[in-house]
Amino acid sequence: MYVKILNESGYDEAMLGLSLSYGAPIEAAQTRAKLLAFKQGGHNKFLEAIMLWLEIQAPRYWWVQADTYRLCTKQSESTMHTIMKRELAFSDFQDGIDSRILCVLNEAITNKEFTWVKHHLPEGFLQKRVWCLSYKALQNIIQQRKTHKLAEWHSFIISVLNQADYPEFLMEAPCE
Ligand SMILES: Cc1cc2nc3c(=O)[nH]c(=O)nc-3n(C[C@H](O)[C@H](O)[C@H](O)COP(=O)(O)OP(=O)(O)OC[C@H]3O[C@@H](n4cnc5c(N)ncnc54)[C@H](O)[C@@H]3O)c2cc1C
Repeated sequence: MYVKILNESGYDEAMLGLSLSYGAPIEAAQTRAKLLAFKQGGHNKFLEAIMLWLEIQAPRYWWVQADTYRLCTKQSESTMHTIMKRELAFSDFQDGIDSRILCVLNEAITNKEFTWVKHHLPEGFLQKRVWCLSYKALQNIIQQRKTHKLAEWHSFIISVLNQADYPEFLMEAPCE
């Protein structure tokens, strides 16, 4: 699995918007933003104005969980269009695949058994998508998934926090 932040946009505009609420200069809004980032009930609405675009390659069992988040847009590789175009390899799966299963899948691809391949494709098959979402949606995801059983959520969160321009809006610093 890998996660790459392709782009972020909207911070300056979000700070300008926040400064209007308080009749304060932008520098003061930036300080206030850090205090408001984790206050729900409308206080952290400015996070909805800061957008990110993530490129992610992840197994389909992880995407199933990621798909429960609705306030976002995803564009994905299509198995409908590409699954029959080439033989599959170990590297197409999270942590590889049993060689016997791989062999059977590739036999079906050679025999052009599209429906069979779709029915039997393992959940570990890696799929790339571009995920567009706001800081608000991403903060919610991180809060909900930071103690999740799937190791991929931990990889996702660490990668995002390492690359984000404003990780302080996504994860609260631990109390000292
Ligand atoms: C550990 C874990 C296990 C889970 N297991 C299951 C499960 O077994 N089955 C299952 O179905 N779900 C499951 N969920 C999914 C969960 O119920 C949420 O749907 C999912 O986490 C998305 O969260 P969200 O609604 O906060 O995020 P988003 O979908 O991004 O929504 C963000 C915010 O917008 C609001 N919102 C979004 N759409 C609308 C709308 N149309 N109208 C009004 N408000 C809206 C939401 O209420 C939320 O406050 C699980 C979640 C976790 C963390």
